[in-house]
Amino acid sequence: MKLSLSNGIFSKFGIIENFAQVKRLRFENVEFNMKSIKKERDTDVYREQKALETSGLKCLTLHSASLHTKDPIEVHQAVYYGKISLECARALGAPLMTVHSNVSKKLPPKVREECLEKIFNLEIKPFAKNLGIKLALENLSYTSTGFGKNIEGLEEVLGVIDDGHIGITFDLCHALETREMDNLLDKYGGRICNVHMADKSHRPFTEPKPELTHFLTRIQEFGYRGPITLEIAHGTPIEEIAKSKALFDSLLSKF
Ligand SMILES: [Zn+2]
Repeated sequence: MKLSLSNGIFSKFGIIENFAQVKRLRFENVEFNMKSIKKERDTDVYREQKALETSGLKCLTLHSASLHTKDPIEVHQAVYYGKISLECARALGAPLMTVHSNVSKKLPPKVREECLEKIFNLEIKPFAKNLGIKLALENLSYTSTGFGKNIEGLEEVLGVIDDGHIGITFDLCHALETREMDNLLDKYGGRICNVHMADKSHRPFTEPKPELTHFLTRIQEFGYRGPITLEIAHGTPIEEIAKSKALFDSLLSKF
């Protein structure tokens, strides 16, 4: 497994300083979160590409910008966010993009299906396929405005969008908050492509808690070898992030 840090935590900095902070903490890999870009402008991807090259970091995954559409009229915006994120993933050489369902949990089922069809099947999936980038759907928490926090929800989304190639980004923080960790692992353990790693409320793990060891053991049993992406709340002190990195450096050498 490869340790990585989501750079969303440094989104208040410009991109050069953002990557510099990741480097200062001695990470080699980064998940580029589109939150790090203040305003999506197509040509900015060249700036991000140059900054990544200069930093020497490897971008393993990219977290898409997403809009949880509350009305079908917003579909075009969700499509735009998805496509500009894919262009950025290509520029940064990331082979995998984490996506949310892009539909609000408040939409009625029929409209959810219609929006998923338009956003993913007609637009984002063919665009991603063309660029050779795999999509990985993330399990959400009950606090999210988006749809897809448990198996029932994720199955509904995958029932519309999965063509056999959609992976799963397993967010441990969300799975702990919704108490769905084992259910989700039983169902999706074999198709995890990325892990968002944090304790509840996106606090960093700084000691080996039983639920963390249990999770790592289970994904190892599924043969998982991909990124362990620390995705930590804004405002977490640097010392806490460093402690979490030290913990995972040590834990991952055993898994
Ligand atoms: Zn996440």
